[in-house]
Amino acid sequence: MSTLFISDLHLTGERQVITDLFIDFLKKRASHADALYILGDLFEVWPGDDMIQPDYMDSITAMKNLTDSGIPIYIMRGNRDFLMAAQFAEVSGASLIEDPTVINLYGSPTLLMHGDTLCSDDVDYQKFRQMVRNPSWQAEFLALPKEERIAMTTKYREVSKEEMSKKNMDIMDVNQTTVESVMQEHNIQQLIHGHTHRPAVHDFSLNNKKMKRIVLGDWFEQGSVLECDVAGCQLESI
Ligand code: MN
Repeated sequence: MSTLFISDLHLTGERQVITDLFIDFLKKRASHADALYILGDLFEVWPGDDMIQPDYMDSITAMKNLTDSGIPIYIMRGNRDFLMAAQFAEVSGASLIEDPTVINLYGSPTLLMHGDTLCSDDVDYQKFRQMVRNPSWQAEFLALPKEERIAMTTKYREVSKEEMSKKNMDIMDVNQTTVESVMQEHNIQQLIHGHTHRPAVHDFSLNNKKMKRIVLGDWFEQGSVLECDVAGCQLESI
């Protein structure tokens, strides 16, 4: 048996082929797993649990079918879908987990994160993140009429796209010092995260200890899956 990790699917009605790939993955591959972890940005936009996009319903139903069959899905909020909450958990059957979370992965203590907090060189983004993760900002946002929430979400996406095109590529990757301090703080040697869309396995040493940082890939052109069992982890495209 194995545990599966995915992230950054950015599901949207504009890329139906990826939605189909995700549903097929849930029905086939995930149905044999011990558990499925989704480490953020499953959805491209999430303006609130009371505004689930019709385009998302097939995916959510497939998630519910999987959890009903006894396979747990653990889901972390990403920078796109950070407003996912209890109502979403109920309709999907998935359990929301905090960022960061430490799990025991077949004997290896493993830190799970979305990854955006590791990109500490991107000061503007970290400021924005602090604002939108503030509970009172969120309460105010969720109290807005639906049309206004859509308009604001669209605006944030446009601004973010424009800013990303101007930023140096290095700024949008993780900061190694931040990675090391987070791993030390949690006293773990293995970290799994997404967000940067730079799938890779990074081995390095820190204070004579072997450290491993596994980065999940996005689901734009194809899928990206990390499968872990007692023997270790394999990162692959599907
Ligand atoms: Mn992200």
